[in-house]
Amino acid sequence: MIRVQNIQLSLGEDKSNLKRKIAKKLGVYEKEILEFKIAKEAIDARKKDNIKFVYTIDLNTAKNDFLVKIGKATATPNIKYEYVKTGEEKLEHRPIVVGSGPCGIFCALILAQMGYKPIVLERGKQVDERIKDVEAFWDNGTFNKNSNVQFGEGGAGTFSDGKLTTQIKNPKCGKVLDEFVIAGANEDILYKNKPHIGTDIIRDVAKNMRQTIENLGGTFLFNSCMTDMKIVNSKLEAVQINNDKWVDTNICILAIGHSARDTFELLHKLDVGMEQKPFAMGLRIEHLQKWINQAQYGELNENLEPADYKLVHHAENGRTVYSFCMCPGGYVVASASEDEMVVTNGMSYNDRAAENGNSAILVNTKTSDFPNESPLAGVKLQQQLEKLAYKLGGENYFAPIQTVGDFLEGKQTTKIGEVKPSYIPGITFVNIREELPTEMGEAIAEALVAFGKKIKHFDHKDAILTGFETRSSSPVRITRNKQYESNIEGVYPAGEGAGYAGGITSAAVDGIQIAEAIASKYSPF
Ligand SMILES: Cc1cc2nc3c(=O)[nH]c(=O)nc-3n(C[C@H](O)[C@H](O)[C@H](O)COP(=O)(O)OP(=O)(O)OC[C@H]3O[C@@H](n4cnc5c(N)ncnc54)[C@H](O)[C@@H]3O)c2cc1C
Repeated sequence: MIRVQNIQLSLGEDKSNLKRKIAKKLGVYEKEILEFKIAKEAIDARKKDNIKFVYTIDLNTAKNDFLVKIGKATATPNIKYEYVKTGEEKLEHRPIVVGSGPCGIFCALILAQMGYKPIVLERGKQVDERIKDVEAFWDNGTFNKNSNVQFGEGGAGTFSDGKLTTQIKNPKCGKVLDEFVIAGANEDILYKNKPHIGTDIIRDVAKNMRQTIENLGGTFLFNSCMTDMKIVNSKLEAVQINNDKWVDTNICILAIGHSARDTFELLHKLDVGMEQKPFAMGLRIEHLQKWINQAQYGELNENLEPADYKLVHHAENGRTVYSFCMCPGGYVVASASEDEMVVTNGMSYNDRAAENGNSAILVNTKTSDFPNESPLAGVKLQQQLEKLAYKLGGENYFAPIQTVGDFLEGKQTTKIGEVKPSYIPGITFVNIREELPTEMGEAIAEALVAFGKKIKHFDHKDAILTGFETRSSSPVRITRNKQYESNIEGVYPAGEGAGYAGGITSAAVDGIQIAEAIASKYSPF
């Protein structure tokens, strides 16, 4: 196939016009185009009065070579996923993947596809049971420490917007998208510039991927927390489940996510190498989604999806403030994974039809902010803020909130304006500004005003701030060598929790890389 770039359609223009425009751009007759498909679709909204869809198209004509030769098209890059050549060493036991988030599930999928029959241990429940626990938490604050927004089938992304955008440029991202589509995600994720699945669909995707892995000889054990490892002469020999049963294995992939604090402690106790990692914390902000649409697109248009944004501000006190994980038409969700702590995050359904859009407004932390030298000191910093949020909220998992107007003035909010907070089970008015570490509060206040200059209404007095957002990324890195192994032979730290990914797609890609490292060393069963 050959590739042609920059084919444009105006808003509302029918996609059936694409073929004519491709033909014109290439200087061929329409009938000479044998087949074509969209490789990329982006929106150019730089000129609000002339918003366009911009396409990259892959196609076949009888003159492919000629069109490439004269520079009208380029050869379509071959991004077909190639499995690695398998190794020779014999595996005595089945590999164990700890965690069924995107990293664990993609690692298990590749291992299963290549004949390694992985066993996946997941401390949480299967997705249908997990949904009931999460809804009970959101409805009435009944908290389950192993079945929540962070823990359970599908991992932390199950109750998310399912944004698949990533900063990594890795050809394996294509494999991730392909497998998501096979498992039930909309095909448009294959070409949209900012693909997203939505929590409603990602839940089924997780289930379907599990079934595929099982059909290929893999096994999933839910309600199965890895609680210990048997290490002899710096080599893994077995892992323990639920403080009880031991399972022999020489390979354990730690795809545990950024919230497995008890497992981090276990690994530290077992002398698995780890170090502090800077991360970011802050607040969730909510606006009316129509404000964001108007700011980004001008007049609202039914042909456009709810708009997003990405903002950065370098504050005078040296902190960097940025928007993160923007969820257009979404909800702020209670995301705790420990008793008596409050954590915020964001989620959208596939249609992104909710009234508000939200994002995290984060401030970078430095390791010098950490309370001590321990590799786990960053966790302590997160916990301090999460416990404070719980206390401020009223010790019932309600979250502290403040309007942006009151945050900027440093006074307690007493009533809600145009933006209704979406966080459940409930909210409590708090002077958050007064409670935040001073530098963080100052940096966020400065950034809100700066962001308001870029996006009208961003600093609207009625916009809502909900506290606190602490789990944007892992506060530790579990170190690994070039073969992806930790200082313990057979232990492979992976994904977001180990500090090697940030988001669904990059965690999935890291899982694939680990599977490849194992496959290229060992022979399949
Ligand atoms: C509400 C929310 C919304 C998000 N929205 C997005 C988004 O739109 N786009 C995006 O890219 N990212 C989003 N993220 C982040 C994304 O979910 C994570 O980056 C991603 O899930 C990390 O994948 P992972 O597999 O490394 O870890 P996780 O997904 O965290 O999975 C780790 C799994 O390991 C299990 N586990 C932990 N310890 C043990 C143990 N000892 N034994 C057994 N099992 C264990 C956990 O239960 C969990 O299921 C969101 C996160 C949240 C919480």
